[in-house]
Amino acid sequence: MNRQIRLAARPVGEVKPENWDITSEPVGEPGPGHFLGRTRVVSLDPAMRGWLDDRPSYLPPVALGEVMRAGSVIEVIASNHPEYQPGDHVVGTFGVQEYVISDGRGAMKIDTSLAPPSTYLGALGMPGMTAYFGLLDVGALRDGETVVVSGAAGAVGTIVGQIAKVKGCRVIGIAGGPAKCALLTDELGFDAAIDYRAEDVRKALRRHAPDGIDVYFDNVGGEILDAALTRLAMHARVVVCGAISQYNNATPVKGPSNYLSLLVNRARMEGIVVFDYAKRYPQAGQDIAAWIGTGQLKVKEHVVSGTVDDFPETLQMLFRGENVGKLVLELA
Ligand code: NAP
Repeated sequence: MNRQIRLAARPVGEVKPENWDITSEPVGEPGPGHFLGRTRVVSLDPAMRGWLDDRPSYLPPVALGEVMRAGSVIEVIASNHPEYQPGDHVVGTFGVQEYVISDGRGAMKIDTSLAPPSTYLGALGMPGMTAYFGLLDVGALRDGETVVVSGAAGAVGTIVGQIAKVKGCRVIGIAGGPAKCALLTDELGFDAAIDYRAEDVRKALRRHAPDGIDVYFDNVGGEILDAALTRLAMHARVVVCGAISQYNNATPVKGPSNYLSLLVNRARMEGIVVFDYAKRYPQAGQDIAAWIGTGQLKVKEHVVSGTVDDFPETLQMLFRGENVGKLVLELA
């Protein structure tokens, strides 16, 4: 049987157990041109919260009753597809379920001798691509600039900060708690870290970025975004990558009150949707793999072992700040 997680009801505010259904159906047979795979690792992403709302976005909402959308790595166990053989590992948007039948569209074979499957959902996957193009393209980073990144100890944030270090920048990370801040400075080479739960972020930014911020990479929105806006340097770039502090809002998101700083500093604020860069993923993948190889980029992953039944609880870890690096659910 194929166990699956389906959306039972749209959440209002925080996602609750009753928003999900756990269902089972017989594992099908792959038809001509299809392969059957068993799910190995499922990606947990903050964006999943947005996909549960019935409102227009860059992807359609997950429909009620539908298998929850998720990136995952599967291992092929039977195939009628000429390009996929049993034993191959494949990454794609296969949903939160134990078994998958695919015709290969939107899927990509991966080489697990180069990196473990989880890394193709993290540094070499969507979060890595987001960090790379968000920082270098949207952020138009120049060597030696001052970069601030929020959500700094997460999947995207850890890579943003380390790429900025590769580019010779001064990097300040904002994260929750002393352990995450110590990780940033002691292990990942950030120049400074701000614990937003314990410190006044605005004052700390004044101390750590006395000449202002050239690139602010925003993963969290809300008050931290407002604080960063007060410290922009002339011609700064604000990369709007995400706003996890706002995703569980039951009321509409309020925009930043300090936006006139963009005017005063001739700065700009621009969003990124990583999928727009799909054609250039190979370039980013090569660069990131090379930096991993030289030790300039350390991969941080938070692997939870369990079954698809653990998906709802594991997803909540993102909103409680319980993950360090890329959060994945590894299926037994
Ligand atoms: P992540 O950072 O690995 O995990 C989420 C982290 O957010 C938590 O660990 C927590 O860290 C922090 N957080 C949770 N609630 C918070 C709050 N109220 N205030 C401040 N921080 C809070 O997740 P990720 O996958 O790397 O994603 C990071 C951001 O990038 C998200 O906003 C996501 O939506 C966005 N994203 C955008 C794109 C795109 O194409 N635009 C692609 C991928 C990801 P602390 O312990 O530090 O609070």
